[in-house]
Amino acid sequence: MENLATLKRILSIPQDVAIISHRNPDGDAIGSSLGLSLFLQRDGHNVKVVVPSEYPDFLAWMPQADDIHIYDNEPEAATWAIEKATLIFCLDFNSLERVDKVGELVAASRAPVVMIDHHLFPESFAEYVLSDTTASSTCELIYDFIYLLGQGQLLDPQIGDCLFTGILTDTGSFKYSNSPKLFRTVANLLERGVDDLRIQNLVFNTMEEKQLRILGHCLYNRMEILPEFSTGIITLTKDDYATLDIKRGDTEGVVNFLLMMRGVKLAAFIHEQPTIVKLSLRSKGDIDVQEMARQHFRGGGHKNAAGGASFHNLSATVRRFKEILPQYQEQLQG
Ligand code: 5GP
Ligand code: MN
Repeated sequence: MENLATLKRILSIPQDVAIISHRNPDGDAIGSSLGLSLFLQRDGHNVKVVVPSEYPDFLAWMPQADDIHIYDNEPEAATWAIEKATLIFCLDFNSLERVDKVGELVAASRAPVVMIDHHLFPESFAEYVLSDTTASSTCELIYDFIYLLGQGQLLDPQIGDCLFTGILTDTGSFKYSNSPKLFRTVANLLERGVDDLRIQNLVFNTMEEKQLRILGHCLYNRMEILPEFSTGIITLTKDDYATLDIKRGDTEGVVNFLLMMRGVKLAAFIHEQPTIVKLSLRSKGDIDVQEMARQHFRGGGHKNAAGGASFHNLSATVRRFKEILPQYQEQLQG
């Protein structure tokens, strides 16, 4: 990170910090935000975490998750946290558009902004940037950041639990994005008291019966396989959301099941939201879904995990998705 010395000087005085992460926050968004928040509190700062929309239930156990300001639910408190901040951290996103109204508040603030993120094509809205697209997760980068500040001694089991959660969820339990450095980081977290098995149980083995049935519905009734393009698609309509009472978070991870099928290299979960159609894309190997999301669905993300949106209806969006597949046929059949 450039100007680290300046940031260290800022942090040598107690600050009012706002930590912001992205809409539909996942394990890495919440884990990195709460992990950094605990660390900064231990370092003497006053910290608030703000996200645009609700986090899924499987993260509710995390330390201080109850104290997160969710803009959709409490816009005044969230706005105030950002307006009064003397230092702002933006975690796990790299474009202010990803945080809607919260992004406007960040743009309007005079406080210095720090961005810590691992997505491709970071935009330049922050004075201090720790961006590494080879990192498994933002949580891995928060760990690095704590050591860059020379404050590794503050890393306690609670902070470690938060960081381990984001690493676990963003790597799909070490399936997607690993490096020797990541395993060294995780080894250090375990040495510092993180109980990895407890966290795996909290994160993965707490599904409700209804959620398992929704997964069954997606796989049994809403899955389409296109063998000629090595592609699997799952679609959910607004009616599905209403009749099965599907809530945000209930479909977390559904898209990954498609990649478990032999021969499937590209997976799409396409679902109707109240005003838009959202796409979650996943791939194996060299197929770049980030590029696909960026080119065709105003989105982005990582090479093997990306997302975007469409302003057409569900069937038109699915048609559009199928129409672009021939462009990728060579890679899909390779
Ligand atoms: P998911 O499919 O789990 O919602 O998202 C997968 C990845 O793509 C995440 O890293 C997420 O940040 C990114 N992503 C999802 N939706 C969007 C989007 O609309 N725009 C951008 N730029 N990235 C997205
Ligand atoms: Mn992430």
